[in-house]
Amino acid sequence: MSTYQHILFAVDFFEHGDQVAEKARQIAAQNNAKLSLVHVVDNLPITDPAYGPIIPFDVDLTQEFLEASKKHLQELGEKLQVPVERQYLEMGSPKYEIVRVAEDNQVDLIVVGSHGRHGFALLLGSTANGVLHHAKCDVLAVRLADD
Ligand code: AMP
Repeated sequence: MSTYQHILFAVDFFEHGDQVAEKARQIAAQNNAKLSLVHVVDNLPITDPAYGPIIPFDVDLTQEFLEASKKHLQELGEKLQVPVERQYLEMGSPKYEIVRVAEDNQVDLIVVGSHGRHGFALLLGSTANGVLHHAKCDVLAVRLADD
């Protein structure tokens, strides 16, 4: 049976701690595979006038998000021993960017967290679902423990 050679862990810093990271690390170690990380800063407008007095709507927080994400990515990279050149920080739609990074780098397994949504929430779509439908390689959806 063929083993995985390059595993891409798609990390969303807001929602899960170590459980998915640990799974990705273990699978990479068991397969003697390279491990890479990707985080995508969604380019939705984050200058919403609804924030009113808290965030003036002419302030663009994209740069701050990118800086903070880069720092988180580097910390996780150190923890998982993933070198900087395999820490991908992208902007755009997470599901498309994750799949693009996987294709550009001959990834054969993408690891994502999964909320196990169903019904209407699933129809609305999720990143895990989007990656699963668009990726040409295998995708492992690790169920998040708080479901
Ligand atoms: P979601 O279904 O959108 O809640 O996200 C499920 C999983 O997709 C997360 O646990 C991550 O593995 C991945 N993911 C979500 N958003 C991002 C993001 N912006 N960048 C990289 N991976 C993400």
